[in-house]
Amino acid sequence: MSRFAHPAGDRHAEQLPDERPPHAPADLNALTPALWPRTSERIDGAITIGGVDVRDLVAEYGSPLLVMDEEDFRSRCRDYRASFHDGDVHYAGKAFLCREVARWIMQEGLGLDVCSAGELAVALSVGFPPERITLHGNNKSVAELERAVVTGVGHIVADSFEEIARLGYLADKHGVRPKVMIRVTVGVEAHTHEFIATSHDDQKFGLSLSSGAAAEAVRRVLALPSLELVGLHSHIGSQISETAGFEVAARRLAGLLAQIKQEHGVVLPELDLGGGYGIPYVDGDDAPDIKLIAESLREIVAHVCASAGLPLPRLTVEPGRSITGLAGITLYEVGTVKDVEGLRTYVSVDGGMSDNIRTALYGAEYTARLASRSSEAAPMLSRLVGKHCESGDMVIRDLYLPADLAPGDLIAVAGTGAYCRSLANNYNYLPKPAVVAVSGGQARVIVQRETEEDLLRGQL
Ligand SMILES: *Cc1c(COP(=O)(O)O)cnc(C)c1O
Repeated sequence: MSRFAHPAGDRHAEQLPDERPPHAPADLNALTPALWPRTSERIDGAITIGGVDVRDLVAEYGSPLLVMDEEDFRSRCRDYRASFHDGDVHYAGKAFLCREVARWIMQEGLGLDVCSAGELAVALSVGFPPERITLHGNNKSVAELERAVVTGVGHIVADSFEEIARLGYLADKHGVRPKVMIRVTVGVEAHTHEFIATSHDDQKFGLSLSSGAAAEAVRRVLALPSLELVGLHSHIGSQISETAGFEVAARRLAGLLAQIKQEHGVVLPELDLGGGYGIPYVDGDDAPDIKLIAESLREIVAHVCASAGLPLPRLTVEPGRSITGLAGITLYEVGTVKDVEGLRTYVSVDGGMSDNIRTALYGAEYTARLASRSSEAAPMLSRLVGKHCESGDMVIRDLYLPADLAPGDLIAVAGTGAYCRSLANNYNYLPKPAVVAVSGGQARVIVQRETEEDLLRGQL
């Protein structure tokens, strides 16, 4: 099985599931480059990111704090653009979107995927060109579809028969002809957690290839002159590190493209293979190599289209996690250190499942380090937990921290730039943390910390 990636550390990924608790890392101060933002380093013991000391960040902006390395984020955008120079790269906004991130995406020349009126509103509020936006979602409301049609969103990915009918009606009503793609469920079992796999047949997204629903959707869109069918879309899941799933998806989509050509005499010019490229969260995980991803995907598409007697379609990819995931770290302050005799030490921090629900939701793994100083103390088997009223409120289930850890120390958790802030919630009425962008020794707040006033807003 070919991989997109290089291993980030020594541990073999295959050994991962049974190894609990993990071995203590050789150096509790080390910042494995594949896991931490590109500008992070340890200076005089403390972690700096974007040239800013984490102690200064917390002193100024409080904790918990999501810190985004702007240079890391932008450089990954550029890597994608360079690697897919003959195609389109759309950042999947649901991974993490705010107005400033939308500006970064716009300035770096990427397109943007949104899947709700709210995400669309964020993009439009900073003047994001609507023609570079794609609207996704398995149950877009009529109001959301109408907003997209009226603002001239570049692509709308149809996910159901109902939606095709609604789109036809709205396009007629407003006298426009939106570009439409069909989201095809290709029946691939992506090797990832059930909750983030999206292309096996038994789930809510898309129109099934094997049942004929996708081909029927194509017929219905082609029958509506007010809709312009431009291509097929597939997104097989998230946190995927092997090419095999994409290869199967591309081959099946090419098969459908060939069938469409035969049945309708129409050659669709675009193919969207979605996102889902994995990132390393712990030592031993594969690290994505965007160039390798691009090379294999382009090779696969060229091959399957040639075999099906089709011209090469324009390829779109939609990375989310692999652009923003490693650019972000979360800083927490240690509040209590509780030794549970003979088991482990519970280290409680001032956030938890409200700012990072991924561990509780699907057993995500993370790497954390003591950030405000280095330590030569022995490794202490720990569990990094939040302050919420759920025993499943864990940030990291098993990790080693230095045995001299004390209240007031700062902990940095790596790889929290994707699906943390966007899944954040106010459980126990905790305010959502601020987001700070760092670059060139400067920090600035890009999303303010919620206040008590925010928490009470709108209540009787
Ligand atoms: C979530 C999603 C993506 C991005 O997935 P990542 O794993 O963050 O790369 C891309 N396309 C669609 C349609 C999605 O739903």
